[in-house]
Amino acid sequence: MTNLKFMKTPYYCPRCHTKEISEYKDTFECTKCRDNNGFPLEFEKSDIGKIPDDDIVARREMSSFVGAFEELRDSEKRKKFFNSLLDDDLEE
Ligand SMILES: [Zn+2]
Repeated sequence: MTNLKFMKTPYYCPRCHTKEISEYKDTFECTKCRDNNGFPLEFEKSDIGKIPDDDIVARREMSSFVGAFEELRDSEKRKKFFNSLLDDDLEE
């Protein structure tokens, strides 16, 4: 039987693959990667090894997706959103 307790952290940044991370209870932050606002990228520990590295989304990125979807619940905003998509397609 392998005792995983003696292993060094199994977590690494899915973006730059460094193991220089700040570990928290359920998440960790890369000490090197920053998002567009200069914040460290924070990842869910449970995603590592489960989801392909390229598909792992930082928490902050995820919440901005959720925020966008929340906005789309508002029908007026939804219309505007889809209209803006259509506008892009119809440019001549
Ligand atoms: Zn990184």
